Amino acid sequence: MNSNILQVRDLRVIYYTRQGALRAVNDISFDLQVGERLGLVGESGSGKSTTAQALMRLIKPPGKIESGQVLLNDLSLLGLSDERMRQVRLAEIALVSQGAMNSLNPVARVRGQIEDALRDHGVKLNRRERAEWIGELLQRVGLPQTAADMYPHELSGGMKQRVCIAIAICLKPKVIIADEPTSALDVVVQRQVMETLETLRAELGASVILIGHDMGLMAQTVARVGVMYAGDLVEMGGVEDLFSEPLHPYTRLLMASLPSLEQKEAARGIPGLAPSLLNRPEGCPFHPRCPEALDRCLVVEPKLQTVRPNRSVACHLHGALSAAREAS
Ligand code: SF4
Repeated sequence: MNSNILQVRDLRVIYYTRQGALRAVNDISFDLQVGERLGLVGESGSGKSTTAQALMRLIKPPGKIESGQVLLNDLSLLGLSDERMRQVRLAEIALVSQGAMNSLNPVARVRGQIEDALRDHGVKLNRRERAEWIGELLQRVGLPQTAADMYPHELSGGMKQRVCIAIAICLKPKVIIADEPTSALDVVVQRQVMETLETLRAELGASVILIGHDMGLMAQTVARVGVMYAGDLVEMGGVEDLFSEPLHPYTRLLMASLPSLEQKEAARGIPGLAPSLLNRPEGCPFHPRCPEALDRCLVVEPKLQTVRPNRSVACHLHGALSAAREAS
């Protein structure tokens, strides 16, 4: 039996700007297993949020999903009609984003906003059943029943984000994508919201893709992590394995940029700037910043390849080529 609920293959997203075609997501492939917690990390502009939008088919012009395949169970999301995809969103795959709490309707009570989501998806419940389901949803996300009659401006940031999570899970989706869901919140509320999300994931038997740049939060939350750079997926592995032995030089620098409790000096940033996606360097896109670049890195683009079980990396220092070089 295939235990993958989501299979992403060669997904490419391009923004056609006046300055030229900007390759925001560059042929990335990964799987998400049933019940899995997968993280996608990287600096801003690395393509992780665009990936989330593409999986939800929410890329707006001038952006375009240029090619690739997204299979949710056996459903090919990129081949669905717009109307069918609208039904699949929330019912099968849902997104909680950082900005979601600002997109709540300011003049509608929480109850009405959840009812709208249910109605939009053709859920037929009588008044009593609807009230019960909304009450249960609010309880599941850690909000009091009284929140149903409140307007967004009466809620704190953490409460608003919980309402967004309640809306996201109101149809019990099997995949929840959480794109920096707590970055606007203070650290204590952030941890509480993440705990709520994890409890819900377990209750629903759902899989979660957590997107962010906070490696510490990733370490506490996900089981497997993918690292993105300049639209590429450059490394992937189990979170403990990847954190204890990062293979890609970019991942190593990301890890070194984490402040540690023992470290008294300020955390180091990553030298240089991420490349303009309009002007992607030849060869490995990380080579202008890479302290370990080889001559071939300037001309040959490394592909993501499996270097050991559950571990893949796109770097000329690893994999078949480096093994052949060591053997010679
Ligand atoms: Fe550095 Fe070369 Fe590896 Fe790119 S392929 S990360 S430039 S060593």
